[in-house]
Amino acid sequence: MSLLKLQVAGAAVLKKKAAPVPEITPAIRALADDMAETLNVAHGLALAAPQVGEPVRLVVVDRGYLEWEALSEEERKKVRCDYRPEPLVNPEILKREGGEEELEEGCLSVPGYRAVVRRPRIVTYRWQNLDGKMHEKRAEGLEAVCIQHELDHLDGVLFIDRISRLKRNLALGKVRKFVEELDPEDDETEYRLYGKS
Ligand code: ZN
Repeated sequence: MSLLKLQVAGAAVLKKKAAPVPEITPAIRALADDMAETLNVAHGLALAAPQVGEPVRLVVVDRGYLEWEALSEEERKKVRCDYRPEPLVNPEILKREGGEEELEEGCLSVPGYRAVVRRPRIVTYRWQNLDGKMHEKRAEGLEAVCIQHELDHLDGVLFIDRISRLKRNLALGKVRKFVEELDPEDDETEYRLYGKS
């Protein structure tokens, strides 16, 4: 496994509509593994393939955190939150319902910035696992936000495209500052900086 370079706002690949995965090849499995490792090191919740420069419809989510986060405060004290990356191949949203909700979002491609985004509250989505088996799930709360945020990435949309132009410009300024602070001699720097944001 290896760490992949994270693409930040401004990169052309983040504006592209990603292509479906026609077949789950060893290369797709390897990409999913590397994305899982990168996500872990960067302390993110989920990662879409375009964020590591690959315009294909593949997402990795930390299912362990999503399940832990959905527990009550009491239950959370008793259960450990384990990192459990799950690859979603060709994910799609089948239904949006339950009105809209506002939640604060961040993104590994927009380091150092968070903002409240309004989205449908409940989604039903489906995806294939790496064995090609189809799954379907109805989600709300953080999971629903996460799925919508990641599927936006596959369509070339960032969360800062869904907020005011003023806030978007502020975010892009933060991203530029982040890139300037990267140490070209030290590949690990960018991951450490992500961890702080
Ligand atoms: Zn993102």
